[in-house]
Amino acid sequence: AKAAGKGRFAVFDAQRDARQTARYRLGAQLPRALERGEFFVLYQPIVRLPDGFPVAAEALVRWRHPEHGVLAPGQFIHLAEDNGMIAELGRFVLEKACRQAEAWRRRDPARAPSVSVNLSPRQCADEGLAGEVDRVLRETGLPPERLQLELTESAVIEGHRSPESLRELSALGIRLALDDFGTGYSSLAYLRTLPVDALKLDRSFAEGLRGGEGLDGVDARIVAALTQLARALTLTVTVEGVETAAQAYRLARLGCELGQGLLFGGPGPAGAAGPLDAAAEPD
Ligand code: C2E
Ligand code: CA
Ligand code: CA
Ligand code: CA
Repeated sequence: AKAAGKGRFAVFDAQRDARQTARYRLGAQLPRALERGEFFVLYQPIVRLPDGFPVAAEALVRWRHPEHGVLAPGQFIHLAEDNGMIAELGRFVLEKACRQAEAWRRRDPARAPSVSVNLSPRQCADEGLAGEVDRVLRETGLPPERLQLELTESAVIEGHRSPESLRELSALGIRLALDDFGTGYSSLAYLRTLPVDALKLDRSFAEGLRGGEGLDGVDARIVAALTQLARALTLTVTVEGVETAAQAYRLARLGCELGQGLLFGGPGPAGAAGPLDAAAEPD
């Protein structure tokens, strides 16, 4: 029995080693993948809840891997964080997204969506971040108020970003959003000190509004309270993961302004149908 147990562990070890090797190889491929143009950006609409009008789009990166097909960020962002490639990858996404948003604006300034870009913890920690963002805005011509950066509380903490260094970003005239709000540490304390303009409520809140509890369930009451809090602090609230019309209706009733989720459209190419159409930046 003891020998069999040992053998089983050996199998687990071998599987773990194989996984680690695969991860290592994927990470090691990142620099060349960037050179070869294997990364691209999809855009997911962020809509006004009452009427579904897309006021913004979140940029979501993908890797078209020659062997593994299209990879989602969950499969490679942490690798880029670990091996230092995140700075370059982040710069690529930021430039791409800003150029795209400027193309939308040129086409139809009144109706064009703004763009929202995710920052990883390492990017947040980068001393040169504000200078970098400023440079990209100048080079692309995108007005700062059309760019939002999404950061998680953990990114702020792990990146040791002080309110002052975030204020440097904020001073550029861009918007800052706290992503995955409600899942992290001491959310409310951060609202007092960070110069944020928007909250993105994690999709677990939308999930809680799927059921038959109507507007009386605990998630509904939390969403209503957070929305009121946000209004008092003049923050915009976006709810993520809206998948059904019933959820959208309830969220709008609870006072949420903006929604994002499969109901309104998943991540898609910039040239896909809808008000974002036909103004795709050439690759
Ligand atoms: P996130 O910022 O919370 O982005 C939302 C994720 O939820 C996206 O996954 C999106 O495709 C997915 N989603 C959208 N609507 C729905 C819905 O109705 N239901 C469900 N179940 N999911 C929905 P994606 O594109 O795989 O991105 C995953 C995470 O990777 C993002 O989470 C973000 O944290 C990170 N990420 C994406 N792009 C970038 C990037 O350019 N830079 C960095 N640093 N992180 C990125
Ligand atoms: Ca996000
Ligand atoms: Ca999120
Ligand atoms: Ca999330």
